[in-house]
Amino acid sequence: MPFSSLGLDPAMVRAAADKGYAAPTAIQAAAIPPILQGRDILGAAQTGSGKTAAFSLPLLQRLAGERHPGARRLRALVLVPTRELAAQVGESMRGLAQQLPSPPKIAVAFGGVSINPQLMALRGGADIVVATPGRLLDLADHRALRLSSVSMLVLDEADRLFDLGFADELGRILALLPGERQNLLFSATFPQAVRSLAESLLRAPVRIEVQAEPAHEPAIQQRAIEVDAGRRTQLLRHLVAHEGWPRVLVFVATKHAAEIVADKLRKAGLDAEPFHGVLSQGKRTQVLADFKASRVQVVVATDLAARGIDVVQLPAVVNYDLPRSAVDYLHRIGRTGRAGESGVALSFVSADREAHFRLIEKRQGLNVPRERIAGFEPVQTQPSARAPDSTGGIKGKRPSKKDKLRAASVLSRK
Ligand code: AMP
Repeated sequence: MPFSSLGLDPAMVRAAADKGYAAPTAIQAAAIPPILQGRDILGAAQTGSGKTAAFSLPLLQRLAGERHPGARRLRALVLVPTRELAAQVGESMRGLAQQLPSPPKIAVAFGGVSINPQLMALRGGADIVVATPGRLLDLADHRALRLSSVSMLVLDEADRLFDLGFADELGRILALLPGERQNLLFSATFPQAVRSLAESLLRAPVRIEVQAEPAHEPAIQQRAIEVDAGRRTQLLRHLVAHEGWPRVLVFVATKHAAEIVADKLRKAGLDAEPFHGVLSQGKRTQVLADFKASRVQVVVATDLAARGIDVVQLPAVVNYDLPRSAVDYLHRIGRTGRAGESGVALSFVSADREAHFRLIEKRQGLNVPRERIAGFEPVQTQPSARAPDSTGGIKGKRPSKKDKLRAASVLSRK
């Protein structure tokens, strides 16, 4: 099916062709026509499914079709959970908008950097703002933008917005928006907080659930290697040397671990960098740019990097520390195998973490065979008596008390 059959104008069809998209992905085919008709959307899509273009192409077309005599007014708001995703979505939208006869002004706003350049960028207004919730509210408080003219709202990675504790800010933002608007909500998972938000926010939404998609299905090979915790860095070095990965994203549990592991790898002669929330925004941007440009081979990251980062041709993700929840597991492994490329997601499992990994497998309906690598066979095969979490303790699909509180706080502020 070509892009032109979805109701897109020639400019938007050209925009997709310019990006090298030969045909729409499943989420694009399903979401673009109803968005063009002005319908609300509730989209469930795997990471890497092409959802940014799925909402950006029809959004840009709808805005281009509206006449707006006089001063520029903010008409579309895209809320995202992280700085990286804000930058990525903004860049992607600007690229797609280039083909329009008079491209809209797209502003990107996120915290962790000085507000002044963002205030300057909003002088004279913007048509579209892509923002993280906290900074958006700061800008609204500074009267740098007004939300009362927004006619399209996108909530991208809605589950993550809740995970990161944005419930309060979301409630305040929703209260500033006009009631009459089109809402597009995308989420990889649907915990109770997201379901409640969707019910309160969306009007007769078109529900879209994209499962497997032959042309773009991420071919992620999942592997689990049994190894003693103390030998993981050596095993990682061995794998980097023997698997021929040009780039690998390694997940650890803490910022401290990210620093330590990256340091050990560097001392062993690898181009490795840590990536976590304590680094300055400039440093984070630099690390990602170096990673994309292959100047850095190994990035050792906390879950900050589990969402939103799109490194084309990232062949491998390693769970050096297992993720806390099954949902985080899904997001981490989704960093590889994006948009139809193949990838490997590899988890290190020590005897103490075996029960935790089994719970992740159960929640995801997986059965990943355990492997051992010659020379790295575990000495410890039973969990130690004081193993943390060896009996579970996993964050999961059932809404926690905190989830319920967050959902209630959003609803009560509406
Ligand atoms: P997203 O899920 O929006 O983060 O997109 C994941 C990746 O898929 C990005 O690198 C996009 O450029 C790419 N992509 C989006 N739409 C298509 C398409 N129709 N064909 C091929 N690649 C696409």
